[in-house]
Amino acid sequence: MAEGKIIDGKAFAAGLRERIGRETARLKAEHDVIPGLAVVLVGENPASQVYVRNKARQTAEAGMRSFEHKLPPETGQDELLALVEKLNNDPAVNGILVQLPLPDQISEQAVIDAIDPDKDVDGFHILNVGRLSTGGTGASAPLVPCTPLGCMMMLKDRLGSLSGLNAVVIGRSNIVGKPMAQLLIKESCTVTVAHSRTRDLPAVARGADILVAAVGRPGMIKADWIKPGATVIDVGINRVPVEDGGESGKTRIVGDVDTQAAMAVAGAITPVPGGVGPMTIACLLANTLTAACRQEGIEPPAL
Ligand code: NAD
Repeated sequence: MAEGKIIDGKAFAAGLRERIGRETARLKAEHDVIPGLAVVLVGENPASQVYVRNKARQTAEAGMRSFEHKLPPETGQDELLALVEKLNNDPAVNGILVQLPLPDQISEQAVIDAIDPDKDVDGFHILNVGRLSTGGTGASAPLVPCTPLGCMMMLKDRLGSLSGLNAVVIGRSNIVGKPMAQLLIKESCTVTVAHSRTRDLPAVARGADILVAAVGRPGMIKADWIKPGATVIDVGINRVPVEDGGESGKTRIVGDVDTQAAMAVAGAITPVPGGVGPMTIACLLANTLTAACRQEGIEPPAL
């Protein structure tokens, strides 16, 4: 895995899913427990439909139970909250994920607040956010948001100890930037969180031994923003037209980093696609396994 500059998230995720599959089989054989993940989709957002389909497929492939709930776009908040309550009380369901974004008539915060924190495999509930920031361990260990969890696994695999390294996270969202910063602090990095109001962002980025880009702007991070030898984690997923003058109307996915140019400077870099993206669903399965173990009073496996 540590060969070359490219950090191959696709291969890393495949390895992780294999380990999860093995541990899931062991859980069933030794404890008669089959982890179950419920995914709720409200509406017909095409990207969300693809995500939910992939999640269900990979859950089943790992040997877990997958419960899909598809609700029409006009679903009211009370109806969704009633479903969450039902899933909270269902012993076959160990993890609950409500696919975001939700239609305007539903408050995302109200839904996140309603999910049992022990089944909150997205790690968005305020109790898990608090546990992550206070460094909770054992029975108080948080469920960690999947995307930053995947980034950390790849960073530790590549670099070993992160202690004392300068990390710069560009982006301060609750889903990626903030939990990423918390995880890096936990690994004893010196962490800077940059965002849309940061002054002289290139200079800030150049101080980074670890640079995490979670912005949502195609190719924003240029080669001369990167410290020679730095490890670059590109979280961005941006759809741009293919370079044919827009004739075909086709699009492709690119990250927040100008990858080709950055390769000449960085020590290691995650590509887009094939970097952080595949790790996110694999980490959702990891969280479901962890949640199932904790709910059954079993020590979760180290993955
Ligand atoms: P967001 O829109 O919630 O947050 C973007 C952050 O970028 C904000 O904190 C903002 O302050 C910052 N920002 C915006 N413009 C900036 C600028 N010019 N300079 C510096 N900072 C700026 O987005 P998000 O949910 O955190 O997602 C970020 C990106 O990561 C998106 O492209 C998203 O699609 C992608 N993403 C990927 C995965 C995955 O699985 N790979 C998961 C989640 C998000």
